[in-house]
Amino acid sequence: MPYDENQHPYTGPRRSRRGLVAVAALVPVGLAGWLIWHGAGGNDAPGPAAASTPSSAGKPGDAGPTASPSLSASPSPSASATSSRAPERPRAKGPLAGKVVVVDPGHNPGNFRHPSEINKLVDIGTNRKECDTTGTATVDGYREADFTLDVSRRLRTLLEKQGARVEFTQENDRPFGPCVDERARFGNEAKADAVISVHADGSGTGNRGFHVILPALVKGGAADTSKIVGPSRDLGERIAGHFLRATGSAPSNYVGGGTGLDVRGDLGGLNLSTVPKVFIECGNMRDAEDAALLTSPGWRQKAAQGMADGIGSYLRK
Ligand code: ZN
Repeated sequence: MPYDENQHPYTGPRRSRRGLVAVAALVPVGLAGWLIWHGAGGNDAPGPAAASTPSSAGKPGDAGPTASPSLSASPSPSASATSSRAPERPRAKGPLAGKVVVVDPGHNPGNFRHPSEINKLVDIGTNRKECDTTGTATVDGYREADFTLDVSRRLRTLLEKQGARVEFTQENDRPFGPCVDERARFGNEAKADAVISVHADGSGTGNRGFHVILPALVKGGAADTSKIVGPSRDLGERIAGHFLRATGSAPSNYVGGGTGLDVRGDLGGLNLSTVPKVFIECGNMRDAEDAALLTSPGWRQKAAQGMADGIGSYLRK
């Protein structure tokens, strides 16, 4: 059954899992540069064009500091005691200071208790679509909605250490949802520099690996992605490259032709976004081998690290 707005039907012949070098040889664009780059020991990459020339594009260790001890700084007692204004947010320090990242943990653990609400159709510009879905789960019952929250919290910690301001669309702090249109508006209204919607897929057994979903060029109703297609691709390619490097997982063997990238025009969360945004499907919860990774806290930390590295690379460019 279709669990997921982002579920992909099985669309092509299965390929056996290959080593990363072999995968790289199959990848014609984008990620190929990343694979070569990271295989050469690069720690960062300025973008797809430069990624194909790793020897001149950077050096190991240029990713910047990963933590700032000053983050916990708070306004001095005297300042807060003498001011009647709302307390100001402590000024974060770090390479991502001043940047706003919206993290959208896919689905909501409460969605399955609210079928009528989440099945209500909402306007996604190009057409109407369900407000939200329950998400998938592993065979053993580990729910995607719990996975997305866990990874998102790990990601928040990593980004905040670098000074970014991180906002969540939901943190299991509401009975269901939000609807996909509201998730998109959240990033828009936050004027986010980058948005990532975290998911895991519900595809057939044997289908493995991660992929990042980029917005297609769509115009219709409230949807107009013309300004975000380019920057979202840049964001997504960086996340895919760093995710691969941090987790060691191969790009999807069933979506994206081995690139780890897919482009879709049917997702309200992307269609209605006016700020750079991507989805990531971290793996396939319905495949036993992928499920073993997705249920591992250690692997989830690597997944969050890969996302944080990709987002940080995009925001520092
Ligand atoms: Zn999902």
